[in-house]
This record gives sequence, C-alpha cells and structure tokens, in this order.
Amino acid sequence: MANDSKTTSKAGRFQDIISHCKEYGFVFPGSEIYDGLQAVYDYGQWGSELKKNIKDHWWKSMTQMHENIVGIDAAIFMHPTTWKASGHIDNFNDPMIDNKDSKKRYRVDHLIEGYAEKLYAENKTQEAEEVLEEMNSLLAKDDFEGLKKLIVDHKIKCPISGTSNWTDIRQFNLMFSTQMGSVAGEEGEGIVYLRPETAQGIFVNFLNVQKSGRMKIPFGIAQIGKAFRNEIVARQFIFRMREFEQMEMQFFIRPGTQKEWYERWKETRMNWHLSLGIAKERYRFHNHVKLAHYADAACDIEYEFPIGFKEVEGIHSRTDFDLKNHQEYSKKKMQYFDNDIDPATGKPYGNYIPYVIETSIGLDRMFLLVMSEAYTEEDLSTAEKQDSRVVLKFPPSLAPVKLAVLPLVKKDGLPEIARKIMDDCKASFRCFYEEKDTIGKRYRRMDAIGTPFCVTVDQQTKEDNTVTIRYRDTMQQERIHLNKIKEIILQSIG
Ligand code: ATP
Repeated sequence: MANDSKTTSKAGRFQDIISHCKEYGFVFPGSEIYDGLQAVYDYGQWGSELKKNIKDHWWKSMTQMHENIVGIDAAIFMHPTTWKASGHIDNFNDPMIDNKDSKKRYRVDHLIEGYAEKLYAENKTQEAEEVLEEMNSLLAKDDFEGLKKLIVDHKIKCPISGTSNWTDIRQFNLMFSTQMGSVAGEEGEGIVYLRPETAQGIFVNFLNVQKSGRMKIPFGIAQIGKAFRNEIVARQFIFRMREFEQMEMQFFIRPGTQKEWYERWKETRMNWHLSLGIAKERYRFHNHVKLAHYADAACDIEYEFPIGFKEVEGIHSRTDFDLKNHQEYSKKKMQYFDNDIDPATGKPYGNYIPYVIETSIGLDRMFLLVMSEAYTEEDLSTAEKQDSRVVLKFPPSLAPVKLAVLPLVKKDGLPEIARKIMDDCKASFRCFYEEKDTIGKRYRRMDAIGTPFCVTVDQQTKEDNTVTIRYRDTMQQERIHLNKIKEIILQSIG
C-alpha cells in the first residue's frame, strides 16, 4: 500500500484520518446524537464493509489456509468461574493513579510514557530512556511505591490540571460485569462478566473441538468476536475502545515445543502483515518485560501509527496455564492423549495438558492500521490550476467497494447499459452505481472511499461495447471491452 501523504504533522494526519472516517461513512462516534459515549464507536456503511473484508482475510488465512486450524464462535457470556480460573478476576488489573485536582484517572504506564515522549520531543533521549527503563523494572516488580516516587521525582504533571497532586497508585479491574436472570438475592449472585478476551471461549471448548473434530496436536482453534474492557485512558479513536473485536487463535502443542512454535508463529504473523504490501520498516517486534500472569514469553507486533509505534497484535506463549486452571476449577480433565512415539523413550507421549501459543490481533486496530496506511493526500496542482485529492489506497481485496459503474449522462440509454454491467458483476463483488454529478466529482468520491476501479459508460459504448476503466492509484484510464470488466476485477482481488 502507498502512503505519500503531504500532511505536515503526525497528529494532524491522525485528526485528518478521524475526520475522513466520519465524513465518508467509515466510523462514527457511538450514540453521537447524545454527544457520544466515551471510547465507543460505530462503523458506518463503508467501515463495516472494510472491517468485514479484514475479518474474512484473517479468517481465510488462519483456517482455510491451515489444515490444522478450525474456527469456532463462542458466546460472549461465560460461566463466572471461567474468569476465576483464567486469573482475570484476581489479575486483570492495571495500576492507576488519580489527579486530585482534575479528578482524572490515568494508567500509570501511560502517564509515564507520555512524559517520556515529551522528553524525546525535546531531544532528551537519554533521560527518556532511563525513565522508561526504570518504569519497566518497577512494573515488573509491581512496586507501586517506587512508581509513585518516579512520578513525583520527575514532577510529572496531569495534562488536564497541570498539577502534580497525585493519589496513591491502586489496582483497577478492567472487566465489565452485569446481572444474569432475575434480580439476584445475595450479593454477588448472578453476576456475569462481559468477556475481556475471546480466548477463554476457545479454552473451555478445547476438548469439544478436539474430540468432535478428531484433531491431532499440533492444532489450532481460531475465533473472531467482541471483547470488552473498561479502559481508563481511552482517547485514541478506535485504537483503544471499551467494546472492540479480537481475532484470536490458540495453537495447542506438546509441552517442551513452545519455544519453537512461538518463533514460528511470530514469523507467520509478521508475514501475514507484510503480505498486505505494507513496508517492513513500519513494523517492529516489542518483547514484553512484564509478562502477563499466564505467559512464559510474549511480544507485540507494533506498527507505526500516526500516533507512533503501537501494538496491533500480541503473540503469547501461554504455557498450560489456562487449561490446567480450567481442569482444576471445573474438575473436568483437560488432557490429550498423544499416541505419537517419543524417540527418547520409544513409547507414546501419552497423556498431557497441551501448551498453547496464542496469536491475538485487534480487528479495530487492524482497521486503523489499514486506514492509516491507505490514507493519502495528493497535490494535483498544475501551472493553470490548484487541485488536490484524498485517496484511500486500500489493497483491492480489502476495499469496501471494488467497482463503481458510472453512466456519463443520465440519458440516451447509457444508464440501461450501466445497469446491465451492475447486474453482471454485483453477485461477484461489491459494486456501486452512480449517475449524479460530473464524472470528475464522482471519481473523487470513489477515491475518497478507496474504490480501486471505476468504469464509465459513454456514447461510444453503444457503438463498440467498450467502456473507460479508471484506475484509482494512477488515475490512468483506458478503453476495454465490456466483457473484460469482471475478469480484471476478479483478478485484482485474488
Ligand atoms: P494494550 O497494551 O494496548 O492495552 P493489551 O496488551 O492489553 O493491549 P492484549 O490483551 O494482548 O492487549 O489483546 C490483544 C489485542 O487486542 C491487542 O494487540 C489489540 O490489538 C487488541 N486490543 C486490546 N485492547 C484493546 C482495546 N481496548 N481497544 C481495541 N483493541 C484492543
């Protein structure tokens, strides 16, 4: 994908993308007529198409292209004990600090990172690195007093009040809870949680899938679905939402092989990103210093968003933590019988609880990534006149609309021919018909939603059955025969 925007600042570019998303029907603030709901967004007519195309692309590459990975669709509500077993009730906390003057609450790591970013901007690189290093080592030890001291010593201020009047640091659980069934009697009864990750739906179904699908280790279970987190710092558009979607895959392996599979999945997932044509330099791996309660190794795939390098996907070696705990809490065996022969003993590997490598990507973050990569402002000015365009250079396979069919004028039988093209193509891919406004304006509207191909039906079409096809990225036009349209588009979307 291309990205030769001329927009000056990165922050400005991010704002431009947010405005474009709203203006062209990609993403709207949630419940906007009531002034919105913090960190909740709705996808519009083109956003939902783009999102679905990203989902389909991931689903196909994970399930259809891997014979040993199958998909499921588990419920959002799960038995409350699930979250006890997974550790989310006890451990899914973030250290938070409140500013007493502004009454705003911050995630401690985000507050300190924000301070470090300022130091970087002032070219105080060494100081920034020292602060981050100290923060990481304190976080790894859950040393809240040390973290508070770090904030106080560096006189880190609240961006809203501008003061350093901080509370102590406290843990804050990120799960949303609600009540199931009739009003509960005793306190705590009937409480269910909105899942904070889709992974547990996979773990609790591990044996159902393994047995009914006769799956042999190594194998994977993939899932796409909503997850909910009561995020505190939620000011970055769809990057951090309270309701979002995850595309996760748990890969079940023999204990002892986790290092090898972890490396393999890191490579496979990075290649998936690069296969979309995105430059390698925009990606990097970030190894976790503070491991989550379930992991023995973990890294993020980070992408250079307009707001800086940020996580888009996590790859975690989750050991047998989840299955073992579900076995303990449910009193149901979570074992697998491996009848492959262990060369060390000459006997079958036998019964064990599998280890797991997880790949977990946020669909909304991937959407933002694709959008950031595609959003391009081009200066088309000539000596005679000033001109520019905004074009979304999506890979054709992800574009919400693949083909726009445009009769040059609304008469002389041209709309009828255009309608025939629509009828011929619309069962194969998403098409868009438009006859209003000048052809130039219609092309620009299609550029703005990232439609890779436009065909224009004109008087000549009636004579020789040719149309003008216009290519979005180059804006070049050529005449082709009517019966070539479908083939060209199908070829480009693979
Ligand atoms: P972060 O450090 O940014 O909070 P995380 O490490 O908690 O993310 P994971 O628990 O590893 O995230 O979740 C896997 C993926 O789900 C992330 O890589 C991200 O793409 C996505 N994700 C997590 N939280 C959110 C959120 N609040 N909004 C949108 N996507 C999210």
